[in-house]
Amino acid sequence: MNLSAQLAAMETTLQQLTFALQEMQAQVAKLEEENERLRQQITPVINENKETAGGQMALQQLYDEGYHVCATYFGREHDGGCLFCMEVLQNVSR
Ligand SMILES: [Zn+2]
Repeated sequence: MNLSAQLAAMETTLQQLTFALQEMQAQVAKLEEENERLRQQITPVINENKETAGGQMALQQLYDEGYHVCATYFGREHDGGCLFCMEVLQNVSR
């Protein structure tokens, strides 16, 4: 393959990658939007159920599995030290 053929092949590859990247970015944006919508839907459900024994267990379990249970970051992964989550879990265990 001569140099201009190689360049043309690289250009094609680059276009394909750019297209794939744009598709992935659109997919990510869609998922983030859906996450936000679900987060907003679940917050009132948590507030209704966090005083019940089942609700407490579910929140604790979710937190132990590595997810925020606080309203601010609900459903996102945590690294173990969220004060908002601590407050929710302390409230429910009283
Ligand atoms: Zn949290």
